[in-house]
Amino acid sequence: MDFSLGPDLELFRESLRRGLEKLLGGGRWAEIDEAGVLPAETIRGLGALGVLALVCPEELGGQGGGWLEAAIAAEEIGYHDPSMSTAVYTLLNNAWPFILSRHGSPEVAGGIVEKVAKGEMFFGIASTEPGGGSDVAGIKTRAERSGDYYRVYGEKILISGVREALETLDYGGWLLLARTGGEGHRGLSAFAFTGKWDGSLASGLEYSILDTIGRHGISTGILRLDGAEVHASRIVGGEGRGFYVAMEGFPLARILVAAANVGAARWALERAVEWSRERRLFGGRPIASFQGVSFSIAEAFAGLEAARLLVYRAAWTADRYVRGEAAREELNLYSASAKLKAVDTAFSIFQETMKIVGGISFTKEVDVHRGLLGTLSYLVGAEGAQNIMKYIIARDLIGREYVKL
Ligand SMILES: Cc1cc2nc3c(=O)[nH]c(=O)nc-3n(C[C@H](O)[C@H](O)[C@H](O)COP(=O)(O)OP(=O)(O)OC[C@H]3O[C@@H](n4cnc5c(N)ncnc54)[C@H](O)[C@@H]3O)c2cc1C
Repeated sequence: MDFSLGPDLELFRESLRRGLEKLLGGGRWAEIDEAGVLPAETIRGLGALGVLALVCPEELGGQGGGWLEAAIAAEEIGYHDPSMSTAVYTLLNNAWPFILSRHGSPEVAGGIVEKVAKGEMFFGIASTEPGGGSDVAGIKTRAERSGDYYRVYGEKILISGVREALETLDYGGWLLLARTGGEGHRGLSAFAFTGKWDGSLASGLEYSILDTIGRHGISTGILRLDGAEVHASRIVGGEGRGFYVAMEGFPLARILVAAANVGAARWALERAVEWSRERRLFGGRPIASFQGVSFSIAEAFAGLEAARLLVYRAAWTADRYVRGEAAREELNLYSASAKLKAVDTAFSIFQETMKIVGGISFTKEVDVHRGLLGTLSYLVGAEGAQNIMKYIIARDLIGREYVKL
């Protein structure tokens, strides 16, 4: 057992830290959160750092890296932007282009992955509908075949990256889940849907941006599809295989979600430690001298370290899964556990940090609330509700014949 990541990964982390400090440091991340727009130059900056399409094959234009490397990147990005916006951008633009490169045609995947890697294109996931996100098998959006094309009708809600894909950049799209067959999960297909290509919006597509309470740097929006065309060659993994394709992407994406939460929580913990040393009360005593404060910091550290180890374990499992050395059940177990624990832990560390900083944390004088709201997005549902993580763990631990939805 060796807990060191080895010289290559440590070097990668160090050089990434320096790059992220230039891209997001000096309060730049908070300015982006306040402005509510992730500039194209920041996205291209992420591309230049090599963190987009990091896990995609080099022959398709990706970086050819592994999931442990991607988890370290997500952790560092979460630390340098605890509002989570750039971490969300990065994790989506790893997990979903990866799934495209694994199951899509090389021509379709290559055209997209190459642009994603350079920060010229956003490629995320469009699964959730107004009728509910947890019940993926119940998706209502329909894709009807018409010659070489499918026409898509339906509505997707709470979709990350709508502004970035359709306004900020010239290219954008999603792995879009739609029904090509009958009821249930076997009737679903996944499409590499490009809502914008070379500056032109797809016809039959309308969109709007939701007014979110946090993580303002990356947009969350609605896609309305009224006959939007997708070429049949853009089906990913074959007709009727969309559910399975998506269910491979979610556990991988969740590992990076968990890693980003660990990074953001590390940032919060550092703020709590600093504040507890500097804030003096009751005759000039630092508040760190009160056990009510120092014990909460001690618990935060223990929780964070446990979550980080779980994240690395999940990322290590993902690398083994991709090489065919680990079963899907093992990936599901560790990925859902990592997301469950890291998000719960991060949110509670942000809560504790806000309490330690005190009343001023409820103002924009201090930036801790930006991280609280960023981690909250994952507590309320993004990349799967926490109850669904518990269901996955229970199902793969106890057995599908016992634990059903
Ligand atoms: C900021 C943000 C960004 C997002 N980005 C994307 C995106 O890019 N693409 C995308 O497709 N989706 C995205 N989502 C949507 C996200 O995937 C959903 O919020 C999530 O799947 C939960 O769906 P829901 O919100 O409709 O809640 P519901 O599915 O309606 O669930 C509501 C509540 O019921 C609980 N629940 C549901 N079923 C069960 C059950 N069987 N047992 C126990 N409890 C249950 C859930 O845990 C939850 O607490 C995003 C969400 C947010 C908040």
